[in-house]
Amino acid sequence: MKQIPLNKEAYSDSSKRSVGFEFLGEFYRDIHYQCKRCAKSEIFTAEDQKYAYEIKKKYMWQQRFLCNKCHTEMVAIKSELQKMEKYYCNNKEQSLKDREFLLKWLRLLKKYPTCWKKSNSNRVKFIEKALGLS
Ligand SMILES: [Zn+2]
Repeated sequence: MKQIPLNKEAYSDSSKRSVGFEFLGEFYRDIHYQCKRCAKSEIFTAEDQKYAYEIKKKYMWQQRFLCNKCHTEMVAIKSELQKMEKYYCNNKEQSLKDREFLLKWLRLLKKYPTCWKKSNSNRVKFIEKALGLS
């Protein structure tokens, strides 16, 4: 089994303060898991773990539960939602009259929780109201 050396010193400060930090082993090993969204079998490789925790400074208890494809989709939806939220804040009156914009926004807001992310139910209600759906 492939092993990649683990360098605790490169962990983020919040990871270093985290319970269990002192029990980290000396190596990373591939972690096999199943995507919670599409049920695909996926591997969080030892190399990817090293990159995530030591280079990208991800929090050590942040677990992978989506496959790469679903994760990429989730990130794309998240960034699109941020853009739409910003657009709305800067063009409130105009965007509330833009049915196409609202429908797209609503579609993305409803898709986001399928990636096991928290749903923004206040925004959903707000847009449904603006569209006359509720
Ligand atoms: Zn998946």
